[in-house]
Amino acid sequence: MRFVRYQAEHEEGLAIEQAGEARGLTASEAGYPGDFDALVRKGLPALEQAAKALGAGHSVDLAAVSRLPPIRAPEKVICVGLNYRDHSTESGFKQPDYPTLFSRFNSSLIGDGAPIVRPFASDKLDYEGELVAIIGTGGRHIPLASALDHVIGYSIFNDGSIRDYQFKSPQWTVGKNFDGTGAFGPCFVTADELPPGGKGLRLQTRLNGEVVQSASTSDMVFDVATLIAIISEAITLRSGDVIVTGTPSGVGQSRKPPLFMKPGDTVQVEIEKIGVLSNPIADETR
Ligand code: MG
Repeated sequence: MRFVRYQAEHEEGLAIEQAGEARGLTASEAGYPGDFDALVRKGLPALEQAAKALGAGHSVDLAAVSRLPPIRAPEKVICVGLNYRDHSTESGFKQPDYPTLFSRFNSSLIGDGAPIVRPFASDKLDYEGELVAIIGTGGRHIPLASALDHVIGYSIFNDGSIRDYQFKSPQWTVGKNFDGTGAFGPCFVTADELPPGGKGLRLQTRLNGEVVQSASTSDMVFDVATLIAIISEAITLRSGDVIVTGTPSGVGQSRKPPLFMKPGDTVQVEIEKIGVLSNPIADETR
């Protein structure tokens, strides 16, 4: 099942894409299955019921609405740095033997189609195409062998990074949390539609149509199951938590000369079997 959260004229809507068509309902319409975050918390049976209700809704022209991040208010957005060897090398890091975890706040998240914002503070705005795993059933001390049972769906992320701020201190938090830099979407795909762990999917980032990152999600150093086992050793994962699994090589900062995003550009992250996350770049405004 493929769900899309969207903003209609005055209210939010939820759509299901099936057989090349999107059908859905807005929040005030009869039969609206409810907030998608709450449906994810209830689990797969609730998503199946919602899919039926939405399929009986009206046709939604997804080109005419604004898509919203698939999860509205994740309790945690846990990002993984240096999770592809060639990216660690191009960034001048030795490949770590424990995942480089950092967090994003909801305030940085935007949906597909919304501009990624180049802030007043810096022109070092970089792209990072990544696979997202979304937690269904939470837990602590989740065993590796059953870790994938805790993933309810997948999506795509562009971990937009303000590089000079990322490296102003040993902690990357600020450079990864400027408002309007975390693009998330364009849809939520249930885990059963993808290979286990989202492995073996082609990931490609394009800047103004030119391919700048190209890899397989199988190239991750710590795969989705391993990340869940390692993270939950320390932290209780909850339903709706978002794990942003890291980016392959080709980022703008490592290019000679460096390639940063600027207003007027369009960046796209495509992951096979999920879709294309597309965002223009715009300058911050007052
Ligand atoms: Mg990243």
